[in-house]
Amino acid sequence: MKFAPIEDLFHIFDETAQILQDELSCTYLDALGETGENIFHGKVLQEEISELSQKRLMKHYQEFTLDKYQKEEIRKAYQLAILKGMKENIQPNHQMTPDAVGMFVSYLIGKFTHGQALLSMLDPAVGTGNLLYTILNYLTDKNITSYGVDVDETLIRLAYAGANLQEHEVHFFNQDSLEPLFIDPADVVVSDLPIGYYPNDLRASEYTLASDKGHSYAHHLFIEQSIMHLKDGGYTFFIVPNNLFLSEEAHKLNEFLKKHAHIQGLVQLPLSMFKNEQSAKSILILQKHKEGLQAPKEALLVQLPKLSDAARTKSIMDQIDTWFRQEKQVGK
Ligand code: SAM
Repeated sequence: MKFAPIEDLFHIFDETAQILQDELSCTYLDALGETGENIFHGKVLQEEISELSQKRLMKHYQEFTLDKYQKEEIRKAYQLAILKGMKENIQPNHQMTPDAVGMFVSYLIGKFTHGQALLSMLDPAVGTGNLLYTILNYLTDKNITSYGVDVDETLIRLAYAGANLQEHEVHFFNQDSLEPLFIDPADVVVSDLPIGYYPNDLRASEYTLASDKGHSYAHHLFIEQSIMHLKDGGYTFFIVPNNLFLSEEAHKLNEFLKKHAHIQGLVQLPLSMFKNEQSAKSILILQKHKEGLQAPKEALLVQLPKLSDAARTKSIMDQIDTWFRQEKQVGK
């Protein structure tokens, strides 16, 4: 991939977002969602802005045609602009999923769903869509219909514009994912879960994983909701805190999982990706029970090294390949 197209595209996103931010007196992220839509339609959709700004916007938009760029170039340039906007307004639970995580998750999905060319995929905390699009851009040999849900309107608008620009078929729902979801069970649920307490105790009380006292953990309720929206035999790939099974609610989670799913693996992401050990995360891979399906003899338990450590990365990847050959009869 060349860097020049990413830089050029970033400038188109950035400069046009700034023009719209000034004209509409909104945040940079809202303006970026608007400009993403304009770029996709090839015109200025906001009628209220001055003629001069419309002309300046159109000059930039004319430099863009969808077929001039690869999907990954569009994703990366858009991601850079989103990162710039997120610096303005930091919300720890709304951060985009980093590329390295998305790429590794796409590798795992590819392995676990080997032989399935058609997939439906749900991300119930889709945010900006960065995780979802990294996966879709890497799993090009599959035909994936995706569903994205998020409660945050700004983020889901960014995701919507991103899907159009990268030409991905995604059905979006702007709602609380812990309320009823009108989405058919999916083959795969993938999600970088929001971590913390869920404020709606009444709704939480409908879940088996509700806490007996005080607020419940949103991430536990998300796991339950996701499993309920998974086909039998389907897989989940959750980005979870390393200490998921160490909290005071962990016994309930363990019991729930025993009843509904087989733990396939827990892959610790490189510690170097996180500010400190407390914020470090893992990928939790589950398979929903289905008649005739057995639990793996051993779950895939690995800790990924710094990806710059080529020798250790290779040895861990070999270990993962061996696991797939033994447990899933999937070769390289
Ligand atoms: N994977 C996303 C990306 O690449 O942009 C980032 C996900 S971020 C870590 C968690 C997301 O969960 C945020 O976008 C937040 O708005 C969303 N969220 C938090 N609580 C939610 C809820 N109850 N229902 C739906 N979405 C929720």
